[in-house]
Amino acid sequence: MVGPLAISDGLNVAIVGAGIGGLAAAIALRARGMNVSVFEDAESPREAGAGISIPPNAATLLKRTGLSDAIDKITTRSQGLTLRTSRGEPVSRPPASPALQSYQIHRVELLDMLLGEVKGTVRFGHRCIAVDDTKPGARLTFANGAVCDADVVIGADGIHSMVQGAIGLTARPTSEGIVAYRGLVPSQKLSWAAELRGLNMWMGAARSFICFPVSQGRLINVVAFVPSTRDMEESWFAPGDVKVLAGEYEGWDAPVRGLIAALGQTFRWGIYDRPPLPYWSKECVTLLGDAAHPMVPHFGQGAGQAIEDGFALAVLLEHAKRDEIPARLKAYQNLRLKRTSRVQAASRQAGRFYRSADDNPAEQAERMQGWMSAAAWIFPYDAEGAAAALL
Ligand SMILES: Cc1cc2nc3c(=O)[nH]c(=O)nc-3n(C[C@H](O)[C@H](O)[C@H](O)COP(=O)(O)OP(=O)(O)OC[C@H]3O[C@@H](n4cnc5c(N)ncnc54)[C@H](O)[C@@H]3O)c2cc1C
Repeated sequence: MVGPLAISDGLNVAIVGAGIGGLAAAIALRARGMNVSVFEDAESPREAGAGISIPPNAATLLKRTGLSDAIDKITTRSQGLTLRTSRGEPVSRPPASPALQSYQIHRVELLDMLLGEVKGTVRFGHRCIAVDDTKPGARLTFANGAVCDADVVIGADGIHSMVQGAIGLTARPTSEGIVAYRGLVPSQKLSWAAELRGLNMWMGAARSFICFPVSQGRLINVVAFVPSTRDMEESWFAPGDVKVLAGEYEGWDAPVRGLIAALGQTFRWGIYDRPPLPYWSKECVTLLGDAAHPMVPHFGQGAGQAIEDGFALAVLLEHAKRDEIPARLKAYQNLRLKRTSRVQAASRQAGRFYRSADDNPAEQAERMQGWMSAAAWIFPYDAEGAAAALL
């Protein structure tokens, strides 16, 4: 029997999945006095060599738990968003408030930082194969024969969540008809790269292209979205073909072609989301992150919403008595389902907008401005405050 390391007489919480969502939740729950164990299928930490943009609505929560310096150390703070058409013409937009800018981070550095905060609570090589209701609480069973009893179980096990199945849900991911090629380019390979700041996006017919510096500017993260009729592997590690990618962006602005030419290798990722689930919580089991609400990445909010989930849940579980758990998990579900469903829909819409056939900078700017003000509600949100208001 493996179980949460009791650091207090608080609730024992078991999290399935040590991705960004599961680890952020572990940090938030421990900060509020709960005993947490995280169980991860992989034998060791596993993250993709790629960049991620952590939006302010999520970064603020991590910073509040004392991670401010650690984040600043690994982040390349966004200095705004620069938009261009596929030919490189600037698309103007209103400047964002500095408080609402994102943090650009190498995914491996982010995962290391989160893991460092919850050392000793993560058990690798534990693939969860069953979640059984033991009233009160639940029992997790793992492929290696271990079992764990907990007061609360959180499925943070990604888009193909087994915990989702264990609470009676059978929803399947839906392809956006888009594949993302991603890769990292050492900045020293391109003479102009040292000057690159913030998030840069080129928008054109059916395609969009993003790059931003990570690892203190030593690397440039590249993500290229192209249409695909193939059902792409939904994996961070499926190799892509740089020559095929170059063909997709023929005739685009020179920096786009230069970055693709400088890519040593590229990986491709089929882009999926899933319509909102009817519920996330059953008795003392709930879901979080991509297990609950996978979303297309065009708003850079997938991990951001996963982080919000964990912090909201921690507020609602703090001081909860064991017999109050099902009601607290329902409150969490209702709060988070509403917000994440809106963010999911807005993310799909953003993708359609970025890849519109219209390459006219003035029209792009006008539509961008309208769309940005319509989406402004996403960024200043305080997930902990919203959860506290329910108590
Ligand atoms: C191209 C692209 C770019 C993106 N860019 C951004 C961005 O800039 N900003 C942003 O906020 N989001 C972004 N996202 C989304 C973001 O990556 C995801 O939303 C986020 O990583 C989800 O985290 P998670 O912890 O919920 O799930 P995952 O990262 O999928 O983690 C799930 C974990 O559970 C483990 N697991 C699975 N099954 C089991 C089991 N049975 N037992 C034990 N462990 C198990 C897995 O091994 C894994 O470690 C992007 C996504 C894509 C595709």
